[in-house]
Amino acid sequence: MQAAIYVRVSTEDQARHGYSLAEQRDACYRRAVSLGAASILEFADEGVSGALLDRPGLNALREAVREGRVDVIVVRDPDRLSRKLAHQLLLTEEFEKAGVRLDFLDFTWQDTPEGKLFYSIRGAIAEFEKEKIRERMTRGKTQKAKQGGIPIGFYNYGYSYDPETETVSVLEEEAAVVKNIFQWFIEEDLGVNGVAKRLNEQGIPTRKRKNLWHRMVVRQILTNPAYKGLWRYKGIDIPVPAIIEPHTWDKAQEKLREARRLWAGKSQQDYLLSGLVTCADCGNTMTGVYAKWWGVKDRRYTCRKSSQGARNRGCIPIKMILAAPVEAVVWEQVCSWLQDPECLVTAALEASPQAEEVRCELQRIERHLKEVEKGRVAILDAMAAGLLELDAQTKNKLGELKRRKERLEQRQRELAAALQGIEGAAGKLAEFRALAQEVLAKLDELNFAEKKALVRALVTQVIVSGRVSPGKQGLNGVNVTVLARIPEPGKSGNITII
Ligand SMILES: [Zn+2]
Repeated sequence: MQAAIYVRVSTEDQARHGYSLAEQRDACYRRAVSLGAASILEFADEGVSGALLDRPGLNALREAVREGRVDVIVVRDPDRLSRKLAHQLLLTEEFEKAGVRLDFLDFTWQDTPEGKLFYSIRGAIAEFEKEKIRERMTRGKTQKAKQGGIPIGFYNYGYSYDPETETVSVLEEEAAVVKNIFQWFIEEDLGVNGVAKRLNEQGIPTRKRKNLWHRMVVRQILTNPAYKGLWRYKGIDIPVPAIIEPHTWDKAQEKLREARRLWAGKSQQDYLLSGLVTCADCGNTMTGVYAKWWGVKDRRYTCRKSSQGARNRGCIPIKMILAAPVEAVVWEQVCSWLQDPECLVTAALEASPQAEEVRCELQRIERHLKEVEKGRVAILDAMAAGLLELDAQTKNKLGELKRRKERLEQRQRELAAALQGIEGAAGKLAEFRALAQEVLAKLDELNFAEKKALVRALVTQVIVSGRVSPGKQGLNGVNVTVLARIPEPGKSGNITII
């Protein structure tokens, strides 16, 4: 490494501070050596004002930098280079552009107002330069793309790209695989998963040659317009050599859309009764699962909770009920209620607790709430009197009381709403009857989400008891009870969307 040291002392410095050139020189030499300099060039200006840029020593240093004889310049502080900030910035920029590192001895200089100004302006200039370069590059790339050039590295399976000539050409071996992927997908109805599986089975290497073909990669290939000859870069279509006929590519898109549509209809995630089913045997809610059970993969409801923290793990042996027949039973019930609204109201009143029971429960909660509040006041009084400190224990106690209060208030709200529902049930009958007429007329046109909303509007709970013998289909041995709810048009929002 070639180091250069630059030292400067003005006549004034020498006279006023007694600074000597020798002192500066020694310090700079020591630093250059500690930086690992193989050779050290020395440039000095003695008794020359720092306000001038034209100094013999400085001129020689700049010349050496231009000639590439210097890797690092050691200076006590930027003030040595120049008294003027503008000159400091000019020189440091010049040196850095030449690939020369500047090393300032005086670390405290950067904390002086001059130092702070120097660094913040340098930072701003650097940021400005970077932004300018970035902007120029983006503009260049977009310009290139508009002219049909390849603005950035084009690395797509099936092609080779030469960054030097910026040309794209077809890699025949990989292009054949791309053609197969499209053909299998369109003509053999394999699906994205099936295509990935076949590629892996045939041992066709991926570009990285170690990973397996993943369905995402297959999907990316099927949707990449580059294969029909148009590569899209920031909204600009750039022509590249085509591997697939445009109409074949379009067919694949159509098929992908179709698959999405089909899937949306009978998705593994679509459970008409999610959140509504309870297992009468273990008390757990039953959730939808799409799983293999006795060799058959299907949608089912199960009371098994596999999560670690579950208090109740569900029935043993594991209970799985086919979703479709349970949903059919519930849907039939919902339809019959729509045809006979009185029947629903009767069922709802049967299912909900009697008004008197709810009132008793509400009174009990009010008493509880008063007790909780009393406890809280007692603690606060004790603290105010200095009998109790706000330590961890007290904080815990207060927190616990607050949570209890919140729970009780929540329950209070629920019960009040239930009481209102019971008392207003008869009054809602007329409203519901009109609504039922409306819904019945459109019943066959309802989509899954609307059906689900309708079920939720009329059913509070579905209780399933018993189990199906393993391997048997249908609902033999299972009892399904559907509990009614009196819908609240407008209020619940559920049924009004239909
Ligand atoms: Zn169960």
